Amino acid sequence: MSRTCVFCGAPADSQEHVWPDWAASMLSDAGPLPHLHQIRQEGRPDEERRYSKGAYSVTVGVVCARCNNTWMSDLESRAKPYLETMLHGHGRALHATGVTTLATWALKTAMMVEHLHGSKRRIIPHQEYAYLFEHREPSERVRIWMGAYTGTDAVAVGSMWGLDAETNETGPREWEPDRGARDIWGATILFGPVVFQVFGTSLVPLLNGLRGWSGTHRIWPYEQSFIWTPSPGFNDQQLMAFSEALLHEFQRRVPTGPDLRWRSSSEPDTAHHSEKPPGNLIHGPERSPGGAT
Ligand SMILES: [Zn+2]
Repeated sequence: MSRTCVFCGAPADSQEHVWPDWAASMLSDAGPLPHLHQIRQEGRPDEERRYSKGAYSVTVGVVCARCNNTWMSDLESRAKPYLETMLHGHGRALHATGVTTLATWALKTAMMVEHLHGSKRRIIPHQEYAYLFEHREPSERVRIWMGAYTGTDAVAVGSMWGLDAETNETGPREWEPDRGARDIWGATILFGPVVFQVFGTSLVPLLNGLRGWSGTHRIWPYEQSFIWTPSPGFNDQQLMAFSEALLHEFQRRVPTGPDLRWRSSSEPDTAHHSEKPPGNLIHGPERSPGGAT
């Protein structure tokens, strides 16, 4: 069965790098890095896969050459100057254009990461792909925050979760593990010293009152310009907590809403992809914690 482009429906005849391949040269002496995939899905056995592969070299064959070579490559080119500065360990002032570019890049990367886990394990609804394709930016159903990572466990992470809800609107739900989308979904995207929290839901009222975390900036929808700094940042332990923070927020708050409750057996689907670093992290020496902002 031939696949079609996840954005435009043309034949998916192109391989897209999940992580920007220009960054591989910054780790070129490292050789192959340990990669890890973990998948947990309700009603199915856990999966785990480990292999070695060059840094930032994994690809997914889910887009067409036209998308890959036009707007996707344009997005990568526009994001590169910001990401490159950060990968070299420098802070960077971000204004509306940079913030919006990075938010769009983070969502696009989350969409590529989820295809590392197989086409049936998707959590991001198709309407978000269609919106990104048409408007070249995330929809209003998406929220994105940005922070810094000072840990040493990974040079790239894509960690995702998805949940279904029963509402007055949806009525009782059958469990459809291969439905390909979840009502509520989140992705933590770590690239070198930069970390993004991408979140979305088709149940828009859930977005009301959603707060961020200290140490992060909301970048979608755009609020204000700021200066991204490589520290203070999340360490490895805090990163795990960060990536689960929204999930826990929803598990805590949603059952208290009058019109919404979880499926009684609902466990989040989770999927995790990481690339472990070589001896020296791409973003340079450790910085003292609690440093200047
Ligand atoms: Zn396409």
